[in-house]
Amino acid sequence: MRARTSFDTLSRVRRLTLALLLPALAHATAAQAQVPASLDWGAIEAETMRHFQTLLRFDTSDPPGNERPAAEYLRDVLAAEGIEVELYELEPNLVNVVARIRGNGSRRPLLLMAHTDVVNVDPAKWTHPPFSATREGGYVYGRGTVDDKDNVVTALMPMLLLQRTGVALGRDVIFLAEAGEEGTTRVGIQYMVKQHFDLIDAEFCLAEGGGMTREGGEVRFASVQLEEKIPRAIELVARGASGHGSVPLETNPLVRLSNALGRVAAWSPPLRMNETLRSYFTRLIGISSPDQAMRYASLLSSSAESQAAAVDWLFRNEPRHAAMVRPTLTPTMIDAGYRVNVIPSEATSTIDVRLHADEDPTRFLDMVRAVVADSSVEVRYGARDVRPGASNGSIGSQAFTAIERAVRTHYGVVTLPTMSTGATDMAYLRARGVECYGIGPATDVEDGPLGFGSHSDQERILESELHRFVRFHWDVVTDLAGAR
Ligand SMILES: [Zn+2]
Repeated sequence: MRARTSFDTLSRVRRLTLALLLPALAHATAAQAQVPASLDWGAIEAETMRHFQTLLRFDTSDPPGNERPAAEYLRDVLAAEGIEVELYELEPNLVNVVARIRGNGSRRPLLLMAHTDVVNVDPAKWTHPPFSATREGGYVYGRGTVDDKDNVVTALMPMLLLQRTGVALGRDVIFLAEAGEEGTTRVGIQYMVKQHFDLIDAEFCLAEGGGMTREGGEVRFASVQLEEKIPRAIELVARGASGHGSVPLETNPLVRLSNALGRVAAWSPPLRMNETLRSYFTRLIGISSPDQAMRYASLLSSSAESQAAAVDWLFRNEPRHAAMVRPTLTPTMIDAGYRVNVIPSEATSTIDVRLHADEDPTRFLDMVRAVVADSSVEVRYGARDVRPGASNGSIGSQAFTAIERAVRTHYGVVTLPTMSTGATDMAYLRARGVECYGIGPATDVEDGPLGFGSHSDQERILESELHRFVRFHWDVVTDLAGAR
């Protein structure tokens, strides 16, 4: 049923867009395939919305994912334009899409990446059904509207426009719609990097992980993610003699574990600034209140004392900023005991650890051991899907410069280079030498607390901001990939 609908939509779209884009095509031919000065953005917006709504209506909740219908839709749309496109899957129905438009090969490719799967939903909590893609009051509602089908359609549109206008390219432009981002990356980015890297190898990658921040209805700044922290798990395992609960023992593992956790929580790991963070806070100072600006300036100062005071203040008032400037340890699980009258012989706690990409994990574990300072408590790394650590983006790069230029044109604001405390699929590409930049459309800061943000029960995007993001993205892509 779904596939049928998609084909109907597809043929309608082709008829429409062909008619509407003819002036642009003629222009491209006349100008010897330079970037067309004007595209018919009204027609492009209508087409963007059709693809966006169609993609939102595929239930790609992960688990299980079932990205196949969305992947096949994308393949059909791309193939209908004559673009090279293939599907790749490690497991049935968890399908990745790779498409390529060839340039003259003088520079290495540009990769546009987004994921088609979404997090699960509790349909009862949604005002508009989660896979309805309802348009209301200038918004589109649905699971995936800001994570990450907005980026899927925003990566798709330049592919279609490049192909139709015949813009001369100095490098290949690759499109990757991945599966598994919200579930298991084993079937998505890991599979593509391990088994098909030659198909997605690029100099630059643009993907989710950044965005424009709107406040009071106005865009205040753009965030472009240049690097991210690496998630690890550390386990504390306290051991001692088991015994009867009626006879307290000095070696009780629960007590040892609690004391160890207390020491870990009280520890303030040393500050770890890098080029991205310094640029981030320097630029942030320029758009902050005098009080905030003073705290950020202290972070950048050479006085360890004022840095420590600033981090302490951030920890209480802006915890996300505190988490950016040092490694973090968050105890999240405890496993101990099974009866009120039995002292167990073992107690375990798991800690969510986020390290800077250039941190030495062995050195860090030794530091935690020194903080725990109890030989009866084992400190070790626990099992976790460990993403590789690498940072290779820079604010001086051609990609960042192009993004910054397009931000100024379309949003008129400053671009902040950011380091994410969370993890994205870009980590796998960065580890293979692809410079990655996380971008995204404008969203309202007010939306998160109101329950309209990503992963919420009422995820939504402003239609006008989706369209502005597509125009911004078109400029970045043609700037980076256009022939010189
Ligand atoms: Zn996402």
